[in-house]
Amino acid sequence: MILDLKHCEAFPHQLELTDETVRAVIGTDNIRVIKNLKLKLNVQNSDDEYFCQGRLEATVQLECARCVKTFEKQLVTDVDFIVAPEGRNRAKEENIIDDEDYLYYDNDLCADLWEILRQALILAVSMKPLCEENCRGFCSVCGGNRNKKQCNCRNDNSRNQFAELRNLL
Ligand SMILES: [Zn+2]
Ligand SMILES: [Zn+2]
Repeated sequence: MILDLKHCEAFPHQLELTDETVRAVIGTDNIRVIKNLKLKLNVQNSDDEYFCQGRLEATVQLECARCVKTFEKQLVTDVDFIVAPEGRNRAKEENIIDDEDYLYYDNDLCADLWEILRQALILAVSMKPLCEENCRGFCSVCGGNRNKKQCNCRNDNSRNQFAELRNLL
């Protein structure tokens, strides 16, 4: 998703961007795919920097932490970042303001938002996403998927309650 600042004439400038590209995500345990990005952004300008705040919506494919089934979820999260000219001293910048997310626009006043949006979505996903709130996961004794078939393993319940408790800690 590209933010094109050329068309922002008056500030604050409101814009809405959509991108339906299906993108695979690697390097995270939970998210497999991100698609249907929809971004509403409020852009403020100060000198050669642009302060952007907005709301991001996306469809993500997640892997259930209990039964490893892939499922889709609609996510909504707030985003907040600064777009600065390319070639600016990043290290220096980061020393001054280390809690701000920076990205950079090119000579054509365009900035690629994908990396910052990807990170915002990864943060918005819970550590243990569940396909359903009451997903039964795998039996700790026989290894069967308890959503599909209820097994009769002994101590099954007490073990799983214990596992549940551990998950909460
Ligand atoms: Zn599940
Ligand atoms: Zn079992």
